[in-house]
Amino acid sequence: MHKTYLICRRITILLVAIAIPASLFGTLPQLYGAHLKQSKPFADSQLINKPPTDDAAIKASANQRKRKRKTLTWTELHKMYPGVFFYGGSRNSKKVALTFDDVPDLKYTPQVLDILSKHRVPATFFVMGTRAARYPSVVSRIRQEGHMVGNHSYNHPSFPRISKRQFQQQISRTDEILRPLIGYSPRFIRPPYGEITAEQVEWAKKNGYIIVNWDVDSEDWKGIGSNRVLRNIQRTLQPGSIILQHAGGSEDLSGTIKALPKLIEMLQDNGYEIVPLPELLNRSVDRKVR
Ligand SMILES: [Zn+2]
Repeated sequence: MHKTYLICRRITILLVAIAIPASLFGTLPQLYGAHLKQSKPFADSQLINKPPTDDAAIKASANQRKRKRKTLTWTELHKMYPGVFFYGGSRNSKKVALTFDDVPDLKYTPQVLDILSKHRVPATFFVMGTRAARYPSVVSRIRQEGHMVGNHSYNHPSFPRISKRQFQQQISRTDEILRPLIGYSPRFIRPPYGEITAEQVEWAKKNGYIIVNWDVDSEDWKGIGSNRVLRNIQRTLQPGSIILQHAGGSEDLSGTIKALPKLIEMLQDNGYEIVPLPELLNRSVDRKVR
């Protein structure tokens, strides 16, 4: 009897402890939503790309949002849209692709281009519309040096949190800025934070786009040193991998710059061929504009 009483009392105390703050401040998802709203949006100078590390994390963060739109995992999206939503290529040949997000800037993008040029290695750059408009000559240089260009939205919102119309404008405004600079309409879209809804993938499919996330996350935006960048990449590297790094923005990317020559050597020493994303995915880089 005594034991049961004690357990009941503990449960009551626990319930009260949860209920009081909840009733005062609202539910946890509401609090979390408010916090998200404060930390965003997305003055360009405040940009931080925080790609979730796995499907579970994406699902959890999505569930905590107020907006009740069903967000699927990357695995589910790939199954639903096998030729449209990717986070890796064929696992049967030892090819990998380097991808650099949040470009261009005047600090890191040129350094990445210099290293790639020295090692004669191709990469794919996911460009933001705002930054392309500010530094068009860097975008032209990316193109001139034989690299691929993809669309990384206009000003880096989380796609699941914006309206259908806003989403479409994020893509089309960026497309209009990029087309005259590179001579084609980019087919590849990388959603900021890797976040996108099934409805948005559906729209991308209808309009000839391909969504490309990643299966190797360097986490270089955290301002980590080159050795940690390399270790993070080696953790999930496999044939067909799409490697996520950054080459623009306000974060400290000196680790990325220092790691890049070593990364290229490490990949080549292990028999990996570094190919452009269109080759890895067997898809053209340009979109057929209807
Ligand atoms: Zn980004």
